[in-house]
Amino acid sequence: DRAREILTSAVERGRTHLGVESMDLLDAYGISTPQGEVVDSPGDAERVAREIGGEVVMKIVSPDISHKSDIGGVEVGVPQEAVRDTYEDIVVRARNYQPDGSIVGVQIQEMVDLDEGTETIIGVSRDPQFGPLVMFGLGGIFVEVMEDTAFRVAPVAGSEARAMLGEIKSAPLLSGARGRTPADRAALVETIQRVSQLVTDFPAITELDINPVVAQPEGATAVDLRLTLD
Ligand code: ADP
Ligand code: MG
Repeated sequence: DRAREILTSAVERGRTHLGVESMDLLDAYGISTPQGEVVDSPGDAERVAREIGGEVVMKIVSPDISHKSDIGGVEVGVPQEAVRDTYEDIVVRARNYQPDGSIVGVQIQEMVDLDEGTETIIGVSRDPQFGPLVMFGLGGIFVEVMEDTAFRVAPVAGSEARAMLGEIKSAPLLSGARGRTPADRAALVETIQRVSQLVTDFPAITELDINPVVAQPEGATAVDLRLTLD
């Protein structure tokens, strides 16, 4: 199947760290991802952006860069007429950051509406005793600073995934606190379960991080991916 092909080909190429270029892996498990493609020239960037239409997101794709925005490797809301120049800018920043790093290209992605959405994180680590542990929390300071997270051993049942959403302290932010539109909890539950199934099916995935999964009023969309293979 498609997921196996993606992982096998990564292993054959000696790749142990995969990023946004491997979002098809999530697609293969029925997790929604924005339309997107990796390109390696400004011309192709323009063409793909035109196919997507409207403003797009552009991200550096390099096995040597894991936190893309830290080095200026992510541009959100790029208008069509700026795609060419933005391609060059992103690549230059990556070169400056690591002159001898390898650059695969730039991913052009469809924009996901963040105004109505909440950034959440779904992660997986492997515990030597319990096996794959699935983590859920809210993006930004909630996971990174406050460590406001919920964990379950994979595979995670639907009822357990639902419980995870309620367990975190920041849970009210998913249910419409402060005048927000409530997030689609069923879509988040499904996404947690699908991620848990993916790592159960592929023990070679030792770590996985989807940061963020944007929880929308309808649906949940994974816009970033980082994973480690052993
Ligand atoms: P990294 O985590 O490596 O810096 P991301 O792909 O997570 O890179 O992008 C950084 C931030 O940019 C995200 O947390 C999100 O706020 C925003 N972003 C990324 N992709 C999209 C997208 N497709 N639509 C809207 N916002 C996005
Ligand atoms: Mg990210």
